[in-house]
Amino acid sequence: MRILVVEDEPKIAHAIKQGLEIKGFAVDAVYDGDTGLSYAQDPDYDVIVLDRMLPGSIDGTELCKKLRENKINTPILMLTARGTIGDKVEGLNSGADDYLVKPFSFDELTARVRALLRRPPVQVGAELKVADLTVDTNNYVVKRAKEDIKLSHKEYALLEYMMHHEGQIITKDMIINHVWDQDADILPNTIEVYIGYLRNKIDRPFPRSPQLLHTMRGFGYKLSATN
Ligand code: CA
Repeated sequence: MRILVVEDEPKIAHAIKQGLEIKGFAVDAVYDGDTGLSYAQDPDYDVIVLDRMLPGSIDGTELCKKLRENKINTPILMLTARGTIGDKVEGLNSGADDYLVKPFSFDELTARVRALLRRPPVQVGAELKVADLTVDTNNYVVKRAKEDIKLSHKEYALLEYMMHHEGQIITKDMIINHVWDQDADILPNTIEVYIGYLRNKIDRPFPRSPQLLHTMRGFGYKLSATN
């Protein structure tokens, strides 16, 4: 899942980027409203974390309004230094989906981002499930046939993205755009390599269960209990 962070204080922006990357998200950070507005047009962002007070011609509230006017409906989590009811109402009225008051804990930030990713609910609750494969997205626990599976951050991110799109054909471009950030140097071949890693962990050790990760030659990949 790919996240855009718009925050003018570099320290906070970097801390958020690092914190979310550790949790397996791909994160791009920008530092003013104008850049934020142009980045946010990219439909590949799954959530936008937006600071309310930004320098330049557009602050967070303005940015939010403009996006919604442009029919960009990416979920927005707004950050603010203030937490009065009036601020909250203004943020939500401008089109933000949720609101977080600084200082906040990473656990809370991650929980709010995850809640936004579940909206509209692709799956209800924090657990994603395809056949006997389950992913507990709150605790990053992956199990198949009740056995724990250890994944690297990128393997986990790839799996979670594919679980959210169960049964759909996922192209390499979609994977690159949702699982890696824009600075990542990534070749199409890299995706094949990661799909291979994942297959070796979630499918190969479970020959009695349906194989889930399918290569759709010429198109991409599909995660599904049926072909
Ligand atoms: Ca600020």
